[in-house]
Amino acid sequence: MRLFFACWPPASALPALHHHTERLRSHLGGRPVPRVRLHLTLAFLGEIDEARLAELCELAAVVASASTAGLLQFDSVGGWDNGIGWLAPSAPPAGLAELVERLNAALAAAGFVVERRRYRPHLTLLRAARQAWRPHPVAPLAWPLDHLALVASTLDARGTSYQELARWPLSAPQ
Ligand code: ATP
Ligand code: MG
Repeated sequence: MRLFFACWPPASALPALHHHTERLRSHLGGRPVPRVRLHLTLAFLGEIDEARLAELCELAAVVASASTAGLLQFDSVGGWDNGIGWLAPSAPPAGLAELVERLNAALAAAGFVVERRRYRPHLTLLRAARQAWRPHPVAPLAWPLDHLALVASTLDARGTSYQELARWPLSAPQ
């Protein structure tokens, strides 16, 4: 199964996400990501044997309880030259990098293959844009980084769909 760790947007963010998507599309063209698939990727695992799911869940539970919830402010939109139109936090809290590092360290220690490229937090709003677009500031959109979800991605005749397999809350701040 194809797996990744993610954090979902709060429902209250959806109107603003739709607005940003439409603005990006008017400048760049491209294909919007369907609302139910909008997510912040924390770590990509790729193809994983189902037999390792329990181990993965144990590791995620430990990482989540060792990590403190925080607030992300998504305040910048733009487009990369790979056709991705994105919304991103220009100054993510240290807790996000800590969570991602902890997750990757636990995954690597358990023998999973982890991403070597620098983590660039972003929310993909559209794909297959026809051009890049330099970052533009937008009104900050608050997004609580308060959980870690393990998600399976399936590609079939109807396209890609995601299924949440499990979710763990992050620890409340003191
Ligand atoms: P599709 O590829 O069908 O357009 P998708 O990209 O949403 O749909 P997946 O390719 O399964 O579905 O990706 C799931 C998540 O993992 C997405 O956030 C995607 O950007 C990320 N991802 C996919 N491949 C990689 C990779 N090689 N490295 C890092 N992240 C990846
Ligand atoms: Mg993909």
